[in-house]
Amino acid sequence: MGKIFIIDVTNRDGVQTAKLGLSKLEKTMINIFLNEMGVFHSEFGFPTTRHESHYLNANLELADMGVLQPIHLGGWLRAIVKDVETAFKLVPRIRHLNLSISTSDQMIHGKFQGKKSRDDVINDMTEAVDAARALGAESIGVNAEDASRADLDFLLKFAMAAKEHGADRFRYCDTLGYDNPFTIYETIKTLAENTGIPIELHCHGDLGMSNSNSIAGAKGAIDGGQDAYINTTINGIGERAGNADLVSVLLAITKSKGFAEKYKLGDPIDLSMSWKIAKFASYAFGVPIPINQTGVGINAFSHESGIHADGVLKDPENYELFSYDELGRGEPDFVETGREICAGEYSGISGFRHVMGQIDVEFANRDEANEILELVRYANVESQKPLVEDELLFIAKYPKIAKKLLTLTPLE
Ligand SMILES: [Zn+2]
Repeated sequence: MGKIFIIDVTNRDGVQTAKLGLSKLEKTMINIFLNEMGVFHSEFGFPTTRHESHYLNANLELADMGVLQPIHLGGWLRAIVKDVETAFKLVPRIRHLNLSISTSDQMIHGKFQGKKSRDDVINDMTEAVDAARALGAESIGVNAEDASRADLDFLLKFAMAAKEHGADRFRYCDTLGYDNPFTIYETIKTLAENTGIPIELHCHGDLGMSNSNSIAGAKGAIDGGQDAYINTTINGIGERAGNADLVSVLLAITKSKGFAEKYKLGDPIDLSMSWKIAKFASYAFGVPIPINQTGVGINAFSHESGIHADGVLKDPENYELFSYDELGRGEPDFVETGREICAGEYSGISGFRHVMGQIDVEFANRDEANEILELVRYANVESQKPLVEDELLFIAKYPKIAKKLLTLTPLE
């Protein structure tokens, strides 16, 4: 019986969203939180994009140090040999890749404008898989962009070719959020049964079904005899109407009617990280969590009307499927309303030592404090908002890594 694994793509689909972005330190913190949560794989960035190089290499160093273990850190790139070679040149220690190419006739004609045929698409993809393997990739996913609008026979051929060339997973991209739970289930089951390759579900919310499509697709993969990998983002942040939401998908898998009895997560997930990771992503992206957001919205456990309030007080299970503390909620939020000393890009040593003292960080001497302060200043230059406690602790604990994360060297 196949299992369900989570591949979070916040640091790829999330950051490529219009009007939104994350600093390299924020991306690193997200990898750390995903790892603590037990998520299988973080699609952590773009190995062919030069300004990502220091961040990607520094995060792979954190993996070598055991800090980012056991999570897989995977890069996303186009399925062409040139990009695979560039990725290994800029990020030599990268071991997990997803290679993407368009598969619908709409995109093959509309994007490649007659320069590529369906056969060329398969050829580019298989050459890229071969190159990635030859250069040292340990796991390779192939992404069929716009798969939900592609011809099913062509997708079968594409997935079979990927498997024959040693790809580990086939990513079914519902790039435009066109599927519904009924269509994606049938398509994925057919793909799983006929190709024998594990399937990733990459679903978007243009029609409001990204979470339900992910679950239905995972069921299709498992019923078809394969493992399922669901692509999520934190708070559903992603292109246009967004992606499947990490916490919603985890709750749907573990709490929805009759599902968890048959379809199980492959890795133990610590749901109690939900509140923390959702709050951090909201702060880092600068996007508030809607009050009615699944699990982590302010109203997700609020009751006011007479019958509901009376019922939940008598027995929470009358009106709640699961408890707030399972998601790490319940602690009062500390909001400073009096005098506050912040650490920022123009901070001095005295204020900084005060801030760090409040989170129990002591420095051996003034030089050490100055070095950490300088890194905090640079981190603030990049994020343009006060660092959270976990970021300050990270910089104090791993200053050499922080320095690499904060280094940008354009036009080199
Ligand atoms: Zn996407």
